[in-house]
Amino acid sequence: MQEEKRLTKQSVDEARIARAVREILVAIGEDPVRGGLIETPRRVAEAYARLFAGHFEDPACYLEGSFAEETRDLILIRDLPVASFCEHHMLPFTGKAHVGYVPNGTVAGFSELARVVEGYARRLQLQERLTAQVADTVHGKLGSLGVIVVVEAEHTCMSMRGAEVPGSVAVTSAARGVFEEDAARRAETLALIFRGSTT
Ligand SMILES: [Zn+2]
Repeated sequence: MQEEKRLTKQSVDEARIARAVREILVAIGEDPVRGGLIETPRRVAEAYARLFAGHFEDPACYLEGSFAEETRDLILIRDLPVASFCEHHMLPFTGKAHVGYVPNGTVAGFSELARVVEGYARRLQLQERLTAQVADTVHGKLGSLGVIVVVEAEHTCMSMRGAEVPGSVAVTSAARGVFEEDAARRAETLALIFRGSTT
């Protein structure tokens, strides 16, 4: 249907976004042709093209170039930036992701893990789903012994409307493999994650 048609396109339809933004400007009582707004639909379309590029990519591809390394020790990347949009309000949520895994012969480049997070973040998202998608992708693609992902984010749909609780941070986590099975190992890794956290 409409939804599937949109998803099979190769990139964001910027002209369509610009038309829709013009409509929103009228709907909120603005004048879309006044000086300050005349370029706004185009600017929003350009921004959305980048912010929602994740709808058109499979972030697992960033782990294709992972390399063989015989280590079974924890690898933890903390404070990867997260900038995404909640799918309920289309308002941004921002924060950081922490990705820890125990490899089983295959190790990913640090920046590749950041790209996986970004690829899933550049979509309409739920923080819970984003967290699980990163965990499942790293676990599945690297064949790791275990993965733990924690995302901490501030949601503007919470801070700017509705409940209006500025400064509150939502924390989600997903554990796979050894982190799911071994509570002590999970607790040890979570302690490492939160020790350096500033939020
Ligand atoms: Zn929301």
